[in-house]
Amino acid sequence: MLNSYINTSVAPTISRAFGIEAPKLSVPDEILKPVENMISDYCGANRKIEKALIYNPDAVALWLYQKYTDKFAKVINNTRMALPMRTVMPSVTPVCFATIYTGVMPSVHGIQRYEKPVLKVDTLFDRLIENGKKPVIIAPKECSMSKIFKEREMDYIITNDSDLCFDAALEALNDDRYDFYAIYEGNYDSVMHGEGVEAEISLKQIDINADHFDRLVKKARSKWNKEGYKSLFAWITDHGCHNDEIGRGTHGSDLEEDLNIVHFWGTGD
Ligand SMILES: [Zn+2]
Repeated sequence: MLNSYINTSVAPTISRAFGIEAPKLSVPDEILKPVENMISDYCGANRKIEKALIYNPDAVALWLYQKYTDKFAKVINNTRMALPMRTVMPSVTPVCFATIYTGVMPSVHGIQRYEKPVLKVDTLFDRLIENGKKPVIIAPKECSMSKIFKEREMDYIITNDSDLCFDAALEALNDDRYDFYAIYEGNYDSVMHGEGVEAEISLKQIDINADHFDRLVKKARSKWNKEGYKSLFAWITDHGCHNDEIGRGTHGSDLEEDLNIVHFWGTGD
């Protein structure tokens, strides 16, 4: 069974949280209701979200959460809800992150296969910039997240190695020059492609992702609470994964294992 909530609703939901317009081609009312309710409870009638940290781990499927729930304890404990989500086809990184940050299907945003052109359509980053917010993307060079949202008036912290993203994110939070942090880590995806989706060393990557999420959220939350900001935290993965016939990890298909994912959402308190 495929999940009913679709990735296209992520950008309109975050836009609504900040009180800004959704990306131009998206459907502004395609909102994740539980997240909207959580934010209005937290912010009250006269406030909106002012800071957000969106953590983007690669390829962490819903079935991994179901089968290895303990590994997600630090994610669960830092958020208020886990929402079952469905990603789009083909279930590969640039296609799925393009949908997440534009709020539209691949046929509309234009990335319909594994390629990494700069997106010309309106994105959440464009909406944030136009509304005076400062977004940043923190990702290693060559990955989709470091390429497809380029050419905007914003900062990109591009690391030489994926191991360096976490430290770069902590450092950026130290100075806290931004309002919106999109932090990408592709460690699970890159290990499972070679070793298989349930190899010990692959599953260890989920522990690392959960630990990094915990430390990033704790740092941002304490800083932002001290300064009186209303803040949003989310774990937003792009697609799932499964093993191919020779036991290597893969994705891109319309199997439930590839399309069903889970996103976690939380606030500053
Ligand atoms: Zn991916």
